[in-house]
Amino acid sequence: MHVCVVGTGYVGLVTGSCLAEMGNRVSCIDIDAGKIEKLQQGIIPIYEPGLEEIVKRNVKEKRLTFSTRLADGLNGALFCFITVGTPPSEDGSADLSHVLAVTHEIGRSLDHYLIVINKSTVPVGTAKIVREAITAELQMRGLEIEFDVVSNPEFLKEGAAIEDFLRPDRIVIGTDNVRTTELMKQLYEPFVRNQHPILTMDIASAELTKYAANAMLAMRISFMNEFARLCDQVGADISQIRVGIGSDQRIGMSFLYAGPGYGGSCFPKDVKELANTGERFGSTMHLMQAIDAVNEAQKRYVPTLIVRRFGEHLSGRHFALWGLAFKPQTDDMREAPSLVLIEELLQRGAAITAYDPIAMEQAQKLLGERERLFYADDMMEMLDNKDALILMTEWRQFRQPDLAEVKQKMKFPVIFDGRNIYDHAKLHAMGLQHYCIGRGCVPQHRMQGAAKCSSGF
Ligand code: NAD
Repeated sequence: MHVCVVGTGYVGLVTGSCLAEMGNRVSCIDIDAGKIEKLQQGIIPIYEPGLEEIVKRNVKEKRLTFSTRLADGLNGALFCFITVGTPPSEDGSADLSHVLAVTHEIGRSLDHYLIVINKSTVPVGTAKIVREAITAELQMRGLEIEFDVVSNPEFLKEGAAIEDFLRPDRIVIGTDNVRTTELMKQLYEPFVRNQHPILTMDIASAELTKYAANAMLAMRISFMNEFARLCDQVGADISQIRVGIGSDQRIGMSFLYAGPGYGGSCFPKDVKELANTGERFGSTMHLMQAIDAVNEAQKRYVPTLIVRRFGEHLSGRHFALWGLAFKPQTDDMREAPSLVLIEELLQRGAAITAYDPIAMEQAQKLLGERERLFYADDMMEMLDNKDALILMTEWRQFRQPDLAEVKQKMKFPVIFDGRNIYDHAKLHAMGLQHYCIGRGCVPQHRMQGAAKCSSGF
C-alpha cells in the first residue's frame, strides 16, 4: 500500500519506517528542509534505538523516501498520516496550528480518494475540524473529492519506539464508516500477528483514549511523588510502599516510581490539554489540575534537597550532573526535569558540569551558552573536585559506577539520587551521603522515625 506520513519527528519517522519495513511504499514529508536533507543522506536526526538500521534498510530497498513536498507524498497514496507536533499554547491547550497547516495543504493538493489519519495527539473534536478544513479547500477549488478522516492515536514510548510500533499492545482506530475501518485493519494487520487487538471505536472515543492513557500514567507518577514527599516527612520508604501496593493485582507494579517529576513531550502537555478540554466543555477536570500541580512541585524537589544540604547561596559550589534527557534511551529534552534543576542551581550561583550519553547536543541547543554550565565527555573524570553528584536520568551506565572512585574524586562524598537507583545501605556503609526521593534520606527537617540516614550530614 502507498502511505504518506506528514511530520518526520519521533512519531512520524518511526511510523513511516515501520510501515515501510512491512513492505509498504512510504513517503515521509517534513517542512524542515534541513531534516529532510539529512535523512536523504542517511543521517538520522533523533536518537532512537534500532531506528537507523530500519530507516537505512528501507531507503536502500526504495520503499522509504523523504521530501519537503506534500504533493509528492500524496501522489498515489491511499493513506496520509498526520504526525506533526501539537505543542502546548500559552494557556495549556494543544496548539493545532501545525495540524491545520497540513490539513489545508492536503485540501489544496488532493486529487483522489484519501484516508487522512490523525496520529498526532489532538483534542477531542479535531477530526471534525480536519474534515471541515479539507472540505473548505476543495470547495474553493470547485472540486468534490471523497476522503475520510480517521483517529489513530500513537502509544509508542521514546527509547522503545520501534519495538512498540512493531509489536504494539493495541492499536486504536476511531472511524465513522466500515470501509475505512477495514482498510485501516489491512494496513495494521502485519503488526498484530501476536494477537494483540486492533480496537475500533468512534472517533471521539479514540481521540480521548490517547489522553486518558497518558493522564493515567502521569497520575501514577504524581501519586507516587506526592506520597514520596510525605514519606520523607514521616520516615517511611516509598520503595517499600510500591511493593506493598503493587502486589495487589488491581494496582500492579508498573509506573509506580518516585522521581524528579515527569517530563517529555507528552505527559506535561497532554495533562494540561485535558484540563483545558474539561473547561471548554464545562466539565472541570480537577484531577488533571492536581496531577500537573504535583508534578510542577516535584520538579523542584531535587533542587530543594540540594539547598537543604548546601544552603540557599550556592556560588562557589560546583556540581556534577549525570543525566539530562527526560528519560533514558532518548535524546529528547522537552520538559526534562533536569532543565528546572539547572536553572535553579545556576540562579543560585552554582556551577554545573553535565554529562549525558546521548542528549548533550539537544540540551546545548535548548539551554544555549550559559555562564557556569559545562558539558563533559567522561562521566568519571568530570567528578574531580565536585561538591556533589546529582543523578537525574537513570541511564544504564549510571547504575553501577565504581562508587569508591566516585567518592575519592569528589570534594564531598555527597550524591543526590533523583531516581532512587542506588542502594542506600551500601552507600552509607561506604561513607557516601546519599539523598534520594521518598526514602527518608533527606538532608534535614527529618522527624524521629526518619533517622536512618542521620549520620553523614
Ligand atoms: P516532533 O516535534 O518530533 O516532530 C514533528 C515534526 O513535524 C517536525 O519534524 C516538524 O518539522 C514537522 N512539521 C511541523 N509542521 C509541519 C508541516 N506543516 N508539514 C510537515 N511537517 C511539519 O513531534 P513528535 O514527538 O513526533 O510528536 C508528534 C505528535 O505525536 C504529537 O502530537 C505528540 O503529542 C504525539 N505523540 C508523541 C509521542 C512521542 O513519544 N514523541 C508519542 C505518542 C504521540
